[in-house]
Amino acid sequence: MTGTSGLIPTTVTREADLLRASADFGHIVESRPRGVLAARSADAVRELIAFAGPQGLAVSARGGGQALYGEGQADDGYVVDMAALDEVRCVPGERTLVAGAGALWRDVVRAALAEGLAPPVLPDHLGSSVGGVLSTGGFGGSSHRFGLVADWVRELEVVTGTGECVTCSPEVEPELFHAVLAGLGQCALIVRATLRLVPAPTLVRRYRLYHPAPGTFFADQRRLARDARFGHVVGQARPALGGDWQYVIDAVAPHTGQVPTDDGLFVGDLDHEQDTAEIEDLSYEEYLYRLDRDERLLRASGEWQRPHPWLTLLLPEEAAASFVPSVLAEGAQEGLRGCGVVQLRPLTGSALHAPLLRRPPGELLCLLSLMRTAPPERPDVVGQLVAANRAVYERARAVGGVLYPVSALPMTPEDWRAHYGPAWDDLVRAKALYDTNRILTRGYGLWP
Ligand SMILES: Cc1cc2nc3c(=O)[nH]c(=O)nc-3n(C[C@H](O)[C@H](O)[C@H](O)COP(=O)(O)OP(=O)(O)OC[C@H]3O[C@@H](n4cnc5c(N)ncnc54)[C@H](O)[C@@H]3O)c2cc1C
Repeated sequence: MTGTSGLIPTTVTREADLLRASADFGHIVESRPRGVLAARSADAVRELIAFAGPQGLAVSARGGGQALYGEGQADDGYVVDMAALDEVRCVPGERTLVAGAGALWRDVVRAALAEGLAPPVLPDHLGSSVGGVLSTGGFGGSSHRFGLVADWVRELEVVTGTGECVTCSPEVEPELFHAVLAGLGQCALIVRATLRLVPAPTLVRRYRLYHPAPGTFFADQRRLARDARFGHVVGQARPALGGDWQYVIDAVAPHTGQVPTDDGLFVGDLDHEQDTAEIEDLSYEEYLYRLDRDERLLRASGEWQRPHPWLTLLLPEEAAASFVPSVLAEGAQEGLRGCGVVQLRPLTGSALHAPLLRRPPGELLCLLSLMRTAPPERPDVVGQLVAANRAVYERARAVGGVLYPVSALPMTPEDWRAHYGPAWDDLVRAKALYDTNRILTRGYGLWP
């Protein structure tokens, strides 16, 4: 019946498809759709939305399924599976790449590198979809210099919540363009994106620099966020003996051709432990695909399929040096020592452009991500960890911190209003214009 507006578009109701669309990487929240649309064209998405809208039925997109707390689910509505919209076409002459919303970043990287090009910012893990990352914003190792993944989009093809296919860009329909990037799928679903590319390095030299205490770590991260010596900078807190934490900067210098022999130029002025520093040379491609191996191991151990009550916050840099150690010292975070990753990413405020990405004021910021795995079959423990996320979020707000909405955190409409602050009115206006029936991406719980 597809193609006949007013009639139910052809959606799948096989149990396996419904179950898959009822869950996500978080494995915490589950809600069952009444159907799944395997989208093969913008037109099919438009028809589904045109059908669901007047009935007020929820519609959400699903890309890589990496949402953490049901943000891509559609309770008793329709999930649009974007997987088949996976076209990836590099246009080297224009230094752009056209990607279907369901294409994964690893396919984007493969096509771009084949032409000696790459997106300036990429998420660390390349298994998420183009649409999923652009709708949340997207941070990567180069975000301290080049902002969000979403800041490098030239054009979008979207289907709005009112069922219109629109091509938008900073010049054409700019309100819609800016409402979609980092817009949590509230105004439109992305069908295709044109991404800007830059010449890719061929090699990288990677430095792992260990700090026994947070003070020198944050001072060095601050220094590296301010200059351009490294293309990628990420950091981690890792469990140390005796219940402490040690801090590691993972910094990467890109090269094309010869790798310089003088490491002192890169790390000579930093305050890490000299004798434990690790240095390795990799191809840029190996570096970009570095987490594929971790994913294979986590899948093999079963951790990939367990609940993931993650929390990600943007902190004012001046608060991070005391906030992070005090959070890690809490009993509720003990599990992170055995099963999880604590990520600390330096960011530069002026590099972040998408208006709907909320962030603390100020030039230097720190992204803190508590990425933990909960035991299976223990909903009580998962509930405690989600409650702990809420407590950390409250504490972060008190020091000027802001949520990155890729988190397992219950949020009320009042929380969202506070989260968006001065941007709230613009979002309300855009929602009324582009998703009048408020059917899109209800999983975030933005609206009463
Ligand atoms: C192992 C792992 C590593 C990660 N690393 C990073 C990282 O380095 N940097 C970073 O920024 N994030 C990272 N993330 C977070 C991840 O990129 C985001 O959760 C992203 O939104 C996932 O997109 P998806 O398509 O995989 O997920 P999905 O669950 O399919 O979608 C996520 C959200 O986006 C919406 N959405 C999906 N497709 C579209 C579309 N076409 N149009 C509109 N809305 C859409 C969904 O409805 C849902 O609300 C990581 C997540 C995991 C699990």
